[in-house]
Amino acid sequence: MLEIELAKELISRKSITPTDGGCLKFTADYLEKLGFQNEFMPFEDVDNIWCLYDNGGPLLFFLGHVDVVPTGPEKLWTHDPFAAVEDEKFIHGRGACDMKGGVAAFLAALKNTDLEKLKYSLAVLLTSDEEGPAKNGTKMVIKELVNRGQNFDFCIVGEPSSIENTADNIRVGRRGSVNIDLKILGKQGHSAYPDKVDNPIHKAAKLVDFLNSIKWDSGDEYFPATSLQVADIHGGLGTHNVVPGELNLKINIRHNPKTSYEKIQKTIVNYLEENKIKYEINFDSNAQPFYSNPNLLSDSVSEAVKDVMGTKPKISCSGGTSDGRFVAETDAEIVEIGPKFETIHKIDEKIEKKELNKLTKIYEQTLLNLNGKVKS
Ligand SMILES: [Zn+2]
Repeated sequence: MLEIELAKELISRKSITPTDGGCLKFTADYLEKLGFQNEFMPFEDVDNIWCLYDNGGPLLFFLGHVDVVPTGPEKLWTHDPFAAVEDEKFIHGRGACDMKGGVAAFLAALKNTDLEKLKYSLAVLLTSDEEGPAKNGTKMVIKELVNRGQNFDFCIVGEPSSIENTADNIRVGRRGSVNIDLKILGKQGHSAYPDKVDNPIHKAAKLVDFLNSIKWDSGDEYFPATSLQVADIHGGLGTHNVVPGELNLKINIRHNPKTSYEKIQKTIVNYLEENKIKYEINFDSNAQPFYSNPNLLSDSVSEAVKDVMGTKPKISCSGGTSDGRFVAETDAEIVEIGPKFETIHKIDEKIEKKELNKLTKIYEQTLLNLNGKVKS
């Protein structure tokens, strides 16, 4: 099966962010044979490709990344993470689900489709900078293409979206993510003299309690509620008799569009000011939330899933962040549909061969369904 061969080819090319291990050249060569025009679009140390099949009309593009996260201790893996070992049921290896499997499936779907007959143009955008800083990948390519006047109408992101069964869940948006580094300043001294010290740990205890009690919003039909986690807390000198002079916290917030970045900043700073806490704080909005109104593409995907799997997918905006957020700045309708995310980023990542096969069929059917809906 083509999608299985493609997945193995990609997995066996070791491509830890920001390297692509030859995956991009391999894909560009493959698409060239299908009639695509390819362009390598490097930005600093990141390579990206933009491959276009121009039929005129609106544009549907597949978005993906070929970079993978590190393996962790290789000795814990059952199979060499870059050997792309295939057994009866699975293909094993780093990136099998996130997201070389999805890329393999849409590459196969493109070959299985009579592209010439479609009323719209097709493209593939692949980066090797999704799992890292995400600064010189999709973001820059989209920016450059927008500057050139390229239109974007529909975007399929092949990121893992499925929960229990293939395509049981598709996404039309994602929550944003805010990282906060907070230092609470106090006054160091001997534990025996409470009036001579200013204990930042005691202040942090109340602060954490406050942060935990905030109800930012309750989410909506598509979005889970905004949530906050204190991910790291660090203070103290490792002794009983010294009160530390400072304490550091790392906080992460996943927010939907109902709670803005500005509101998050204001809520936390207000608390610190009102409680007369001395502090240093840095907010970093590393991903803005996005939402793409379900329309022709979402309908095409839902109908394709119904055809291939027999059930309609749930439409949601769950999960972490994705490069879809950089596409949200264009007017394109975005749908994320890919394999199950159960093993992503873990030791022994793997993808079911059956799932790859179903996913390929869903992408193929989506291309046909969309053709029935767009005006050329
Ligand atoms: Zn991914």
